[in-house]
Amino acid sequence: MSTSRPPLAIRMHAADNVAIIANDGGLPAGTVLPAGVAEGLVLRDKVPQGHKVALTDLAQGQAVLRYNVPVGYARQAIPAGSWVHERLLDIPPARELQGLPMATVQPAPQAPLEGFTFDGYVNADGSVGTRNLLAITTTVQCVAGVVKIAVERIERELLPLFPHVDGVVGLEHSYGCGVAIDAPGAEIPIRTLRHISLNPNFGGEVMVVSLGCEKLQPDRLLPLGTFPIQPVSVTASEAWQSMGAQALDLVCLQDDAHVGFMSMIDHIVQSARPHLERLNARRRQTVPASALVVGVQCGGSDAFSGVTANPAVGYMADLIVRAGGTVMFSENTEVRDAVEQLTSRAATPQVAQDIVRELGWYDQYLDRGKVDRTANTTPGNKAGGLSNIAEKAMGSIIKSGSSVISSVLAPGNKLRADQKGLIFAATPASDFICGTLQLAAGMNVHVFTTGRGTPYGLQACPVVKVATRTDLARRWHDLMDMNAGRIADGEISIEEAGWELFRMMLDVASGRKTWAEHWKLHNALVLFNPAPIT
Ligand code: CA
Repeated sequence: MSTSRPPLAIRMHAADNVAIIANDGGLPAGTVLPAGVAEGLVLRDKVPQGHKVALTDLAQGQAVLRYNVPVGYARQAIPAGSWVHERLLDIPPARELQGLPMATVQPAPQAPLEGFTFDGYVNADGSVGTRNLLAITTTVQCVAGVVKIAVERIERELLPLFPHVDGVVGLEHSYGCGVAIDAPGAEIPIRTLRHISLNPNFGGEVMVVSLGCEKLQPDRLLPLGTFPIQPVSVTASEAWQSMGAQALDLVCLQDDAHVGFMSMIDHIVQSARPHLERLNARRRQTVPASALVVGVQCGGSDAFSGVTANPAVGYMADLIVRAGGTVMFSENTEVRDAVEQLTSRAATPQVAQDIVRELGWYDQYLDRGKVDRTANTTPGNKAGGLSNIAEKAMGSIIKSGSSVISSVLAPGNKLRADQKGLIFAATPASDFICGTLQLAAGMNVHVFTTGRGTPYGLQACPVVKVATRTDLARRWHDLMDMNAGRIADGEISIEEAGWELFRMMLDVASGRKTWAEHWKLHNALVLFNPAPIT
């Protein structure tokens, strides 16, 4: 146990009746809190790091306030100085979605931030890539093994010839066949795949590998008009061309022309070459910071997430919005308990209605599975001091900063060019599903906070990882890009951390590698499919 630092308790709001213990290893019973929060309070129990201590005597049934919001109700009387753990709390009921304040709070517009830029790849549609990647879209999981081998050959034989291309990404996924493709909700995974293939980091180059007999046919995945027109591929199958999709560069494995496995691999490798030639001709150009499309997310959260990393991300989010850029926050179950804060901050009553629509749909989705939002918290969250989803939500939503919410995106949809500012992109909180949906929305940089620690990464987009605690940042020194634990250590302010992160986002957008990129760490694309499997 570290006893080198004086005991430190952090309270988020003056009205709070609990604070969290910041010291590495927690504090033993009998510790006397020094000046600061609750000077002279004696701890009755050992309180682990990140866990709550009662600052006053709490009566049975009394609201336990953190962020000046009830994160639970005392199941029994809790004397001041006690460890307030999850077994002592009843979770507050979920807020009904009726009678919410709609666009009632209009935060004062913040001063525009001028003069910040990054170096990115400007696309024909006006979007800007932060990486220059060739993506190979697939219609169905059946082709994944073949595409993997083709990608290895492209990397070995072609990439050395095209040094300005950052890499090749096979968009492997579990969808495409054995699915109820016309069921309500099936459009979500389909449009997610469609829009990922159009992510700004892929430069508008679309090539597709299909099997042939699958339910998700190429023309359903990418109907004409949804993707940039490319020169006709000399290798596109005749069958496909006769269907009128002359602009889609497609390799169909069941094509009669394929004799033997190597003919399929050769075909994919040949098809990649013209795309690589065009990508290789591109160079980074200086663009305004307004071209950033940042997805924010947290995973492996602890009680420090809402004290250090998430407030720093929120400050950065405000800076990006002030610079004219776009910030998406997501994770339905982690904002559900703070729905009033969202609807009241909506730019218009319509945007507030859109928030209610998405969260209402998600309530029903969870209800069909006979669970609710409380299924979200993990054993690690609880070990890290988060008693329940209400407490986790209050710490999670801080990532969105303080701007008005300018619009709402349904899962799998892509941002339009006029959708700028702070966006609520409705997604599950699952790290890989949220990241996949934010890629579909058009994210070009991702920021991810973690307290327990996760090696999370994405192949299509750089992921900046922010540690909530110095102890994690020390142990995972070559996995975490920033240590927000310095806020709890008293070394920097939230504002300073927010600025540091903002500048880091610009650097990473300009090509600086994240630790996840350095180690080539990335998670699979995981589609959100609320529809049945057959
Ligand atoms: Ca998450």
